Amino acid sequence: MFKKTVACLLSLSMLSTLTMPTLWQQAAADNIKLPDIGTVAASTLTIGQEMEMGDYYMRMLRSSTPIVNDPVLNQYINDLGKRLVSKADSVQTSFHFYIMRSDVLNAFAFFGGNVVVHSRLILDTDNESQLASVLAHEIGHVTQRHLARAMESQNRSSPYVWGATLGSILLALANPNVGMAAITSTLAGSAQNMISFTQNNEQEADRVGLKTLVKAGFDPNASSEFLQKLADQTRYMSKPPEILLTHPLPDSRLADMRNLSMQYGKKSVPSSLNYYLAKARLAVLVSRNKNMATLLFEDYQKLDNQESRTAIIYGSALEYHNSNENRKAKQILNQLLENDPNNIWYIDLMTDIDLDLNNTVEAIKRLEAALKRNPDSTALQLNLANAYIKNGDYQQAVSLLHRYTYENNEDMNGWDLLTTAYGGLRARAQEMSARAEVIALQGDFSQAILLLNNARNQTQGNKILLSRIDARITQLAQLQKRFAKYRR
Ligand SMILES: [Zn+2]
Repeated sequence: MFKKTVACLLSLSMLSTLTMPTLWQQAAADNIKLPDIGTVAASTLTIGQEMEMGDYYMRMLRSSTPIVNDPVLNQYINDLGKRLVSKADSVQTSFHFYIMRSDVLNAFAFFGGNVVVHSRLILDTDNESQLASVLAHEIGHVTQRHLARAMESQNRSSPYVWGATLGSILLALANPNVGMAAITSTLAGSAQNMISFTQNNEQEADRVGLKTLVKAGFDPNASSEFLQKLADQTRYMSKPPEILLTHPLPDSRLADMRNLSMQYGKKSVPSSLNYYLAKARLAVLVSRNKNMATLLFEDYQKLDNQESRTAIIYGSALEYHNSNENRKAKQILNQLLENDPNNIWYIDLMTDIDLDLNNTVEAIKRLEAALKRNPDSTALQLNLANAYIKNGDYQQAVSLLHRYTYENNEDMNGWDLLTTAYGGLRARAQEMSARAEVIALQGDFSQAILLLNNARNQTQGNKILLSRIDARITQLAQLQKRFAKYRR
């Protein structure tokens, strides 16, 4: 199940994004003394405030940046991210991981445990340990509360004003249409102080990240390998990749990582099949670069291991499905499913194929069986809801999606499908209420409240529904009021 409309989402907490190379170089040139950032806790910004900011900026990002809304890719990046978080120290927030559709190499962490990885970065990693090393580094920025610390060095009396400034800069950075250079000048004043200690933050995120990486069972050398790869690439480019603007890479950083990882020794950790399949899916469906899939599958051919060979087959099924040759796609995919009937990537693609071929009943049977074996899979739940809708089983879709949206209330996919399912039942009040959640998740509270007020008029005497809608209007109005301080 792949939604071609890349719905937008993400949040924000990223101090490291603030590193403009020119300013950094300037700061270095001026030999600014680095402040001591030895304390872990920041007194200026509480965790609660940070979560609130994360929530606010996430909504802004959902409405302004191309976040990949693909259930299997989302499940993959979150499973990988949470595997690392479970081994990290000082975790105080929940974490959410997002893939942003972008051919620019970058990754960043936002307020409140939100981590965003560009699709290009995933494709550029050589193995899963390298991808994990980038996520672990971002998790390190969050657990070390680098953003809150940055605020400590700013005007303590007005954290929200500062937060709003930072937030708007980060929103601009996350928007692929806004170039780094365009916002450098707006940054100049307020970012100067932060930039002067960003190098320390980078080193700390590296060190904390490496510990997490090793504990989670990945190759300790992956961090320095990937940093080296970035450094090598930079040599042949007229300007450095954006990830080095958001996370500056002086030689000392690379040397530090190399020394530290040497203490752990070499460890061969094969990448999971999921990693190979995720890259195949990104190359075929997400990347805007048409050569990406060809290049990736050439690489996979050279690797020639069980996983890379399997991912090539999966990739060709994806490509056949993409060009509407569904029977060929199905033939290929059937071989894969026979050997690995619980694989969610295959089941997900087979669902798309079956729905295109009007084999909805077959798709539903397969999904129901798969979900029994793997009840926590968000990708399978969304696929099944989608298949129920395509089959006209709206009531079943609604039951499934009620539970789904309760457990994953920040996933717009769930609310989108629920809107469609209620539409199928012609339950207008519920349809509008679900649509209001999609809109609220994109930060447009006025519009969401307007829609809920319209929904009130469609409740047809259902008092429970009416009071539920009223309660939601009150909640959203409160949120809108609370978030007003970030709008300037
Ligand atoms: Zn960093």
